[in-house]
This record gives sequence, structure tokens and C-alpha cells, in this order.
Amino acid sequence: QYPIDVDAIREDFPILDRQVGGDIETPGEGPDDTRPLVYLDNAATSQTPKPVVESIVDYYYGYNSNVHRGIHHLSQEASVAYEAAHDRVAEFIGAEGREEIVFTKNTTEALNLVAYAWGLAELGPGDTVVLTEMEHHASLVTWQQIAKKTGASVEYIRVDDDGRLDMEHAAELIDDSTAMVSSVHVSNTLGTVVPVSDLADLAHEHDAYVFVDGAQSVPTRPVDVGEIDADFLAFSGHKMLGPTGIGVLYGKEHILEAMQPYLYGGEMIRSVTYEDSTWEDLPWKFEAGTPVIAQGIALHAAVDYLDEIGMDRVQEHEELLAEYAYDRLSEFDDVEIYGPPGDDRGGLVAFNLDGVHAHDLSSILNDHGVAIRAGDHCTQPLHDKLGVAASTRASFYVYNEKSEIDALVDAVDDARQLFA
Ligand code: PMP
Repeated sequence: QYPIDVDAIREDFPILDRQVGGDIETPGEGPDDTRPLVYLDNAATSQTPKPVVESIVDYYYGYNSNVHRGIHHLSQEASVAYEAAHDRVAEFIGAEGREEIVFTKNTTEALNLVAYAWGLAELGPGDTVVLTEMEHHASLVTWQQIAKKTGASVEYIRVDDDGRLDMEHAAELIDDSTAMVSSVHVSNTLGTVVPVSDLADLAHEHDAYVFVDGAQSVPTRPVDVGEIDADFLAFSGHKMLGPTGIGVLYGKEHILEAMQPYLYGGEMIRSVTYEDSTWEDLPWKFEAGTPVIAQGIALHAAVDYLDEIGMDRVQEHEELLAEYAYDRLSEFDDVEIYGPPGDDRGGLVAFNLDGVHAHDLSSILNDHGVAIRAGDHCTQPLHDKLGVAASTRASFYVYNEKSEIDALVDAVDDARQLFA
């Protein structure tokens, strides 16, 4: 039934064989390291398979060097690999080419890049930025603060009682004053999948741009920028088997072309005089200073790894696990699950156990070796709307299996007995 051969995949992830529970100062060596790790915190950060780690080792052992500016052999090798990583990412999301792929530190930086480079220049009083009520702080805080700087206003598309985006409200809010619609693609709290291509249609009818926060979607399902007609798309390498320190901003070429740089410095200039400067071609115009070379090359390896599995299969695997987790947790009448039904969500489930703080629950789960996330998942206003301060979130990826959800459910049951 499950489309991914998890046993084979897990061979590539030595960390998943770890025991946990011992002294955190000596990872893996404490006398109490007795519980097998059940890693269900993938929406925060995924684990890194051997080919990705090896690509980093190969780079540092074999051709570590600065890119673009060197004539020497190593620099040329590094430049070719770094540029090829842009091409590979472009292909992965259906972009036209490397001109449309800017490497950043993470999704957050990609959002800030557009908010500063485009928003500061283009927004003003009378303009509206339309967000959803389930935006991650990376989007919400960034647009909120840019709006304050520019005099633009921010409006929020409602999330209905089932955790779905209210598209009628979207159609009401998006009008000729709208300059930007910025929406999460898969909610990192509710698991909701937003019909971003419908949002793009609404935005484009009113000559507004659409920014898709793909931090949770690009790692877990096929995403094609042409199909969704996104003007911008952002995602993070560390949530899709890549290393930390690399994110991607996709932007339509003509829009990026018209934007001024966000950061200034070396590597992004064509010529400089004491009076003025001109900019490098895309995408380098937006990659000031020595860029994320090793991380970019490793992202290439991560994308290869995911494509080898097949993004259709990744999505199916995620959905089956999410549905199973939803069904099993629903067996407890004192567990409240947030977001749409189990068969209509991305690969994560956020929930609360009645009367128990999410942090206390997660601490019990940790005693069972189960790694999940507790808190507001950087969606504090959404948690306010749900009427809770925090929730516990389990999130799944290509190496997770049903038995790990059973371990989660057993641990939750244990907590129920303990707090009863
Ligand atoms: N948007 C969403 C939907 C996310 O889930 C996350 C990560 N939690 C981010 C943005 C921010 O990603 P990063 O921390 O890698 O910048």
C-alpha cells in the first residue's frame, strides 16, 4: 500500500538508527541511550541522507574554492557545480532556467528579499498585501513590518472552521488595491493544502503578484511554478533532505530583472566606480558576497535523491501516513486535532491532549524516544484563533513508517494515563 520502500531508504540515514534519552552533552554515548529514535519532526527539519552528506565531503575534500571570480582550476570546478545546482533546482520546480533561481539562507530570507527589494520600492499607502490567517511568521511578520514601513495595509484571508482557506473571502479581499498576495502552500500547523493556483488567478486578475511559501510543499509534493503560475516561490533545503543554510527564491525572470538588489557587495556587481555601480546578471545580482556554495551543491544532491524516489510517491506516502496518524489519534476522544480531515492534508498532524500543555506532552513523548514539536510552530495568531497557546505536531517524511505512528500513539496513550 505504501509506495516507498522505507527499509531501503533508511539505510541512507544512519541517524535513524540512533538511540536517545541519555546525557545530551555526549550524544549517543550516555548510559540511558536506550530508546530507539522515532523522528517525527520533519516539518521543522528533515534528516540528511548519505549521498547529500557525501556531496559536502566531496566538495570540501575535492574542490573547495570560491566561485565566479577565480580562473584557477578549483574555482572553475566549484563554479560549474554551483551553477549546475541552480539549473537542477530550476528543473525540479519547472522554472525556465537558472536566472529565476536565487540561493538564499532559507525561506525566511527569500521572503525578506522580496519584501525589501520589491515591497519597499513598490508598496505605499492605498496598497494592500493579502495574506492568509495561517501564514508562518516568516511571511506574516515580514509583510506586516514592510507594510508599516511603506504605509501599505495587510489583510488576512479567513480560515474556516474545517481549517480550509475561505476562497469566497479571498475573492472579496483581493481587488484593485491588492499589490501582493502571499500565501503558504501547505500549512505547517493545520496541514491544509491551499489552492494556490486559484489564488494566483485572483491576484493576476487584479494585476497583483502572488508569493507562494513552499517551505512545506516543495519537499513533500510535486510543485511546478508554471502550473501554479506563482510569481515567487520560496523553500528551504533543510526540510527536503538538504543541509541547513540554503533556501531558494524562485521569481519570474522579468520581475526579478526589474527589481533592485536586496544586499550589496562583491559577486553581485558588474562594474564599480567611486560614484556608482552596475549589477551582475540574474540570479547573481541577488547573491551578494561569497554565496552558499557547499550548501547549494548539497541541495542539488538532495533534489536528485527526491527525484529518484519520485515526488508523486513522496506525496502519496506523506498523505497515507498523515491519514493513518489522523485516524489513530482520532480514536482518543480527549485529543483535539487541528486542520482538515485526514484524507485532505499534507503530511503533518497538530493536536492537543485535553488539559495537558503541549510541552508536557512532548516531554512524555520524548521519554518514549518520539521526537515531535511543541509550541506555536511560528503561527501564533493562528493558535490565538484556535484558542490555544500551543500544540503538539507530528510530521512525516520519506523514511517514516506506520509503526512509528503506532509508537507515537502509544506514547500519547501513556501520557493520557499519566495525566488522567
Ligand atoms: N514557512 C513555512 C510554512 C514553514 O513551515 C517554515 C519553517 N517552519 C518557514 C516558512 C521558515 O523556514 P526557514 O526557517 O527555513 O526559513
